[in-house]
Amino acid sequence: MTGILPMAGILDRCRRLAPDGRPVVTGLAVVADAWACTNPSLGRGIALGLFHAKRLRDVIRTELADPHAFAVTWDSVTETELAPWYQATVAGDRARLADIEAARTGSERPRPSDPAAALVVAFARAMAHDPDIFRAYMEIAGCLTLPASCSHGRASSTASSRSPGVMRWRCHPGRRETSCYG
Ligand SMILES: Cc1cc2nc3c(=O)[nH]c(=O)nc-3n(C[C@H](O)[C@H](O)[C@H](O)COP(=O)(O)OP(=O)(O)OC[C@H]3O[C@@H](n4cnc5c(N)ncnc54)[C@H](O)[C@@H]3O)c2cc1C
Repeated sequence: MTGILPMAGILDRCRRLAPDGRPVVTGLAVVADAWACTNPSLGRGIALGLFHAKRLRDVIRTELADPHAFAVTWDSVTETELAPWYQATVAGDRARLADIEAARTGSERPRPSDPAAALVVAFARAMAHDPDIFRAYMEIAGCLTLPASCSHGRASSTASSRSPGVMRWRCHPGRRETSCYG
């Protein structure tokens, strides 16, 4: 048994080779982690990387003969189909860090301002009480549906409306409960 080993050097990073849709280089396609990486706590990197590789195959089939068209199409596919996952993960991580910081300092737990992060937080708190919300949350967790475009309209509104009550319920101990052990 070793001592505690830190998992350090984990960063959120996204590379775009065609900012504003205008390629700065052709003949180069960034895929999977070479395109973007985040904190690995959600365990989505391999699924998103494989999906990205499959879409690269599709774009190669149709655009390879024209380097400029290839670069523009690859940027568009990546920005439309992959970037929302990166943005949602970063927003969710920031909301989670703010939540941890509030728990650490004993202050009021903040409500995330980003709509996608707010929905994920609401889902996570409400899914223990509603099977539809649980299914919708698993669709998001399994990379089938983006938080911002969740198709479960009823689940989404139910999660948001139930969340304040669930927040008061507190599914995990707060500073007051844990400080008696310190
Ligand atoms: C600590 C941690 C835990 C994770 N846990 C999960 C998880 O539970 N589930 C999940 O889905 N994802 C997880 N991920 C993310 C996942 O590992 C990555 O998203 C995924 O491996 C990315 O695949 P990739 O092919 O883009 O890059 P990589 O898997 O990093 O592959 C890149 C390869 O290129 C090689 N290489 C680098 N430079 C050169 C060079 N110059 N010449 C030749 N070869 C080179 C490297 O040696 C490596 O083999 C985790 C990541 C980390 C860091």
